[in-house]
Formats: sequence, C-alpha cells, structure tokens
Amino acid sequence: MDNLKMAELLFPHIEKTPEEYEKMYPERNLPEGAKVTRLGPSPTGFIHLGNLYGAFVDERLAHQSGGVFYLRIEDTDDKRYVEGAVKTIIDSLGFFGINFDEGATLNGDMGDYGDYTQSHREEIYKCFAKKLVAEGKAYPCFLTEDEIAEIRAGQEAEKVNPGIYGRYARYRDITAAEAEEKIKAGQPYVVRLRSDGDGGASGDDIKRVKVNDAIRGILEVPENFQDVVILKATGIPTYHFAHVVDDHLMRTTHVVRGAEWLSSLPIHVELFGKLGWDMPVYCHTAQLMKLDEEGNKRKLSKRKDPELSLTYYRDQGYHPAAVREYLLTILNSNFEEWRMENPDASIDDFEFTTEKMSNSGALFDLNKLNDISKDVLLKIPASELYDFLKSWAEEFAPEYTEIFADREYAEKILDLGRNDAKPRKDLVYARQIVDFISYFFDDLFKTEDEMPAEVNAEDQKEILKRYLQTYDHGDDQGAWFDKIRAIASDLGYAAKPKDFKKNPDQYKGHVGHVSTVIRIALMGRAQSPDVWTIQQIMGEEMTRRRLERLL
Ligand code: GLU
Repeated sequence: MDNLKMAELLFPHIEKTPEEYEKMYPERNLPEGAKVTRLGPSPTGFIHLGNLYGAFVDERLAHQSGGVFYLRIEDTDDKRYVEGAVKTIIDSLGFFGINFDEGATLNGDMGDYGDYTQSHREEIYKCFAKKLVAEGKAYPCFLTEDEIAEIRAGQEAEKVNPGIYGRYARYRDITAAEAEEKIKAGQPYVVRLRSDGDGGASGDDIKRVKVNDAIRGILEVPENFQDVVILKATGIPTYHFAHVVDDHLMRTTHVVRGAEWLSSLPIHVELFGKLGWDMPVYCHTAQLMKLDEEGNKRKLSKRKDPELSLTYYRDQGYHPAAVREYLLTILNSNFEEWRMENPDASIDDFEFTTEKMSNSGALFDLNKLNDISKDVLLKIPASELYDFLKSWAEEFAPEYTEIFADREYAEKILDLGRNDAKPRKDLVYARQIVDFISYFFDDLFKTEDEMPAEVNAEDQKEILKRYLQTYDHGDDQGAWFDKIRAIASDLGYAAKPKDFKKNPDQYKGHVGHVSTVIRIALMGRAQSPDVWTIQQIMGEEMTRRRLERLL
C-alpha cells in the first residue's frame, strides 16, 4: 500500500501505464533472425573513430540480417550538449557510408519507436520508475553529497565495499509520509534502485551472474548490489536506466557498445530483471588501441591522437571506401584473407560476424590504413576520384581549386602510372594527392629538392640547355631517352649507371644524375613518375617554360 502511495507521491502527473507503452511499441514485425541495432551517441560535437567502429558493427549486423539500424540521441547529460552536434553525427557517419533506417534525423524523427531523443522521453522513464517504486523496487533517496561522503569515509575505515547499498542505504525504508514531508520542505532527492545484491555483507562471496556476449562469449560478472540512481534529482534518468528502458521499448535485439560499459553490465542485468524484461544480446567491442613511439599498446586518446577524431579523416581526405575497408580489417580477423580471395568483390558481400571480432583491443594503425587506401584508390576510376577530390578541396582546401579547373587534365594526372602492368600506388589520401601532383600546376609548383651533388652548377645549365635544344615533344620514349644518354656521355657522365659503378673514377656521375637535373627543373623533385609521360601530360609549352626558368 505504502509503495503505491509513494509512487503517486513521486509521480503524480504520470498517467500512462507501462502496459500502454508496451502496446505503443510492440514487438517488431521482422523476419526471423533480423537484428535491431542502434547507435546512441551523446551530442558532444566530437565524433570519433570509436563511434564509427561501433556504428559499423551495428550497421552490418542489422543490414546483413534484414533488420533495422536506428539512431538515438543520448542527451541526458545536458552539460555536454553542443549545438549542431546531431548534424555532425549524421553527416560524418553518412560520409563513411553508415546510414540509418530509423531514428533521429535533421527533419525530426523517422520511425514508430520514437521519440528518439532521450531528453524528450522524460515521461516514459518516469512511468517505469513509477512502476518500480510501486512494486517496492525503487525508492526516493534524500542523502546529501556530504552525507554520501561521510558514508564513504566510514566504509573506507571499515574496509567494506563503498557505495549506497544494504544498511548504508539509509532511505531504503522511508515511508511515504516521511518522504512527503521532506519533499514539502523542498529537499532534493534522487530515485534509487533497491538492489537485491548484498555486496558480500552476509559473509558469502559476491554472487556471479552469467551474460552471453556475442563478441566475448559467456561473461561471468559479479551481481550488482548497489542501489544505483535511476533518476537524478532533476528527474532525468541515468545512462543505466535510459539504456534499459529505451532498448526494451525500441525493441533493440543487439546492443553494441564499448568495453567501458562492461563494468556497469551487472546494473543493467539487474534492471532488466526487475522490470521483467528480456535482455538484448550484448556486444562489447574492444577498445581502439595504437602502438606508441616506444612500441607499447595504448588507448587512443582524444588529447594526444588527432586521428581519433573523424574530422581528421575528412580533413586529410581519406576516401570513405578506404576507411571502410580498413575498419573491416580490424573488425574481423578473417577479412583480409577474404579480400585476397575476392579482390574485386563488393565489401558488402563479406559476411561480418561478431565471433570474429577481437575482444582484447583492436590495434589501429595509420600506416596500415594508408597501405589499404593505396589499393582501394587504385580501383576507383580517375573520373570518380576527380569528383571526390574536387568536393574535398571545396570543403577543406580551397587553395587547391586550381587543380580541378580542367577535368581532362586532372584526370590524366591522376591516372599517371595507374594502368601499367605493375600499377603505381602513389595515391593515398586527398592532402597527400594534391601535394603529390602539385607540380603540374604553375601556381603550386615549387622546387623541393636539391640538384644532385654529382652535377656542378655549370653542368646543370649545360644539361638543360642541350636538353632544350634537342627537345622534340613528338619523340617517343626511346628516342627521348637516347637524347639524354647522349647529353650524359658528351658531358662526361656514364650513359649507364652500371658503367659508373664499375669505374667511378672515369665519370662525373651517370645518366641518372643527369635526368635528375631535368626532373628537378620540370617538377622541383628528385623523385617522380616517368618523366616522358609527365611531359606528355604537361604539354610542350609548360615543359619548355620549366626548363627555361633555370637558364
Ligand atoms: N551514450 C552512450 C555513449 O555515448 C552510448 C552507449 C551505448 O551505446 O549504450 O557512450
């Protein structure tokens, strides 16, 4: 009786019943085995690789099984809310090919299981908190911060588990009349779960409960014994309570979340039990780790590692297909093997499974991403690459728009060496690409490398002078190179590097040094793809202009 009175006292305005909500959000009508997953980011404005990593798992599980993947905005911690954050989340994930079937969108909710923004669901949380109070499974707690600190200090002295539980939970048995008095006097309170665990107080070891995790297998976790807060003094739910209520009512079948939530899993187990609901399948993903300079594995950190932010990949201009391909290699241990066997298959044909996920820390490695990106970009036609780079430049690097003024020219440049029998893999990400090809554009051209030491200043001029004099844009590659050999021999350089190696005293250097002089004049660099092909793309006029510049 008193529990019911208490429930009315705390939640007089809550009229809907739990049954009504159950009816409003019925079991989903999906084919057998279809998975319902969700991403529940906090709108902090910072969206990171961990979000994308998790979202990828969610997306694959749902879409491979004919299920639903939805977006829920977890904004119960209003201190962290950043204007425009929802747009950032949707845009950033969308850029990497992660799209939602349901949930929060920029134009309101889409789907029948909303509202999909937690701050709009206060009534719902209160309804279920009311139910727990009415059943004696939750109660109002008026402990002040000071009192809690005092309890904790006492527990430290007694060497018992800290927290509000058992006999330390002073308000467990408060009557409705007492509570009413305190509320009338304006005393703030939270609502706590009345946990069944005893925290080892009976002298027995803390009981353990089993949870089947799709990534980690059967987990044995200590049962919860804390009277955790389910509604804060503001009436807003804690993560624990919102998670359980939302994932039940939204009929989530698989909860994919970071390993940092493993420690609170016992709370969620108890909450699902107390509410009489089945638990979803948990999939606790591994932490993203990297190797630091000393070769030690450590967690990626927001402060130290710019590559943790998704903005980093957008700004550097990684192609989304490369990032997806890379993520799958760290997500599923058998992906690389599959890719070797199916080099041209769509990434969506790979059967992703939680069993093949690492549970001990996924190693993130930018060099590996770059390697994968080289292969992925090789398969993207130049015209598509052009479109991608152009829109990247418009957004992130307007200083490079010159590169995209002439599509035909830019595409030829991008394709340089990509169609050879052994194709070149020079292209990695947009910032690297625009830098790599910048010498094709007068405004971006600069001399980056020094002339080879083997060739003195006088010879440099002589080489360029002769090269210009004999230059014929119509020469084929063989005729062109013969001319360089002739210049080299005339000036005392070996026509073949191996002759120089055999008798270094007889020569000033070799033909390679001579062509480096030409390379630097043309491209400003000592290393580049094939010079003859570059000249063909640049055209005669630019070629001559570059050479004359140094005379
Ligand atoms: N809002 C939580 C977070 O951002 C979501 C955790 C979950 O997926 O349950 O970490």
